[in-house]
Amino acid sequence: MANQAKTPGELLAERLAYKPENSGIRYTDEEMGRVTDFCEGYKRFLDAAKTEREAVEWTVKLLEKNGFVPFDPGARYKAGDKVYLSVKGKAVIFSAIGLKPLSEGVRIVASHVDSPRIDLKQRPLYEEAQFAMLKTHYYGGIRKYQWVAVPLALHGVVVKRDGESVSVNIGEDDGDPVFVINDLLPHLSQEQNKRTLPEGIKGEELNVLVGSLPFRDDRASEKVKLNILNILNEKYGVTEADFISAELCLVPAAKARDVGFDRSMIGAYGHDDRVCAYTSVMAGLDNLSPEYTWVNILADKEEIGSDGNTGLQGRYLEYFICDLAAAQGLEGRGVLQRSECLSADVNAAFDPTFPDAFEKKNTCYINYGTVMTKYTGSRGKSGSSDASAEFVGRVRRIFEDAGVHWQTGELGKVDGGGGGTVAKFIANLGPDVVDIGVPVLSMHAPCEIVGKTDVYSTWRGFSAFMGAKG
Ligand code: MN
Ligand code: MN
Repeated sequence: MANQAKTPGELLAERLAYKPENSGIRYTDEEMGRVTDFCEGYKRFLDAAKTEREAVEWTVKLLEKNGFVPFDPGARYKAGDKVYLSVKGKAVIFSAIGLKPLSEGVRIVASHVDSPRIDLKQRPLYEEAQFAMLKTHYYGGIRKYQWVAVPLALHGVVVKRDGESVSVNIGEDDGDPVFVINDLLPHLSQEQNKRTLPEGIKGEELNVLVGSLPFRDDRASEKVKLNILNILNEKYGVTEADFISAELCLVPAAKARDVGFDRSMIGAYGHDDRVCAYTSVMAGLDNLSPEYTWVNILADKEEIGSDGNTGLQGRYLEYFICDLAAAQGLEGRGVLQRSECLSADVNAAFDPTFPDAFEKKNTCYINYGTVMTKYTGSRGKSGSSDASAEFVGRVRRIFEDAGVHWQTGELGKVDGGGGGTVAKFIANLGPDVVDIGVPVLSMHAPCEIVGKTDVYSTWRGFSAFMGAKG
């Protein structure tokens, strides 16, 4: 049977029909070894950098090790020069100057390093029924019921009255305490059970348990809260008022883990979108002497609309490219018009438990390769920049010439909901843009799932795009 000749129909289908397939079928053992190795590095990054500040710090350290220097807007750069610009420590742009003049455009890859999480309010600490608790305001699109009764770690910075900035990271080391948001026991949840799923846990019920022992004093009031303030003051030198000038958030305390008997997937907090950040940083390191200048951005605030001076609706990317252009005696707007961009973000992978949310023929699948998403948006592509056929064709050629395993994707079925990425904000500046990224299961949950071969394919895709000759 093995040598049986193909039928004319099989041959014709081979030539004419298109059918994506699982990377596991295609990859050799050797390539699967490279997939595993690459993902071990990715898992270390996931555990080391759970917030945008930590991701930027991690990235800048790696860039400096690889010869990148702080960007000087007035300087003239030559081919092979490598620069980075930290945007308030919460976003970073970095670039390698190519042989071709900027008049031929730049290659942009834009991901984001903020992930949905639970931020503390400005006056978070209170005492109730002999518990010290923290009030929170969630950040980004979370399903609130998923964040209760799981161990959380506290990350962030506190800026003290004297201006000193203190970094906080509690709950990541095995010896550290963690923090938990409570849920009701099933025995007593009869009333709560009548709520709809989005209301199952309400925003003001996301209160965090942080202590239960009183400060030993007969006369002081709110002694449990006082005891916590005392601990924080001894450890960090902060007072209650310092919470006002702080950015503190709770993220899942769990570390990245392999998922499945075959270890083919990774379960972790915040794949969206650190998976595209990591793969694009690694792709940059593959292309340190490029033909065309590339510009890589790890942005902040994507999960809450990309507004502000660290989000991609801010002007810093435009100004960076204008400054680079000016140094070559060019107008920034001309460079932007000739540029092209991969908006590096995740897409929703088909979930067999919830098939009705997806349109099977056009959704992406775990371990079927990096996913190209031509358009996002909702209700008739509203709010999407919708990549041109020409640019989709170009990226497709780059990927296929480089042997990158890729697939197409659409965010769920038509009228099933929707969403967007930073693609449109960059397209608004002039470049051609298409979304490329990794398919994800349980997006925005405390434990998101990605396929290892997709992480690898995405890295290879970004690398091929940044290094493409012409
Ligand atoms: Mn994202
Ligand atoms: Mn997201």
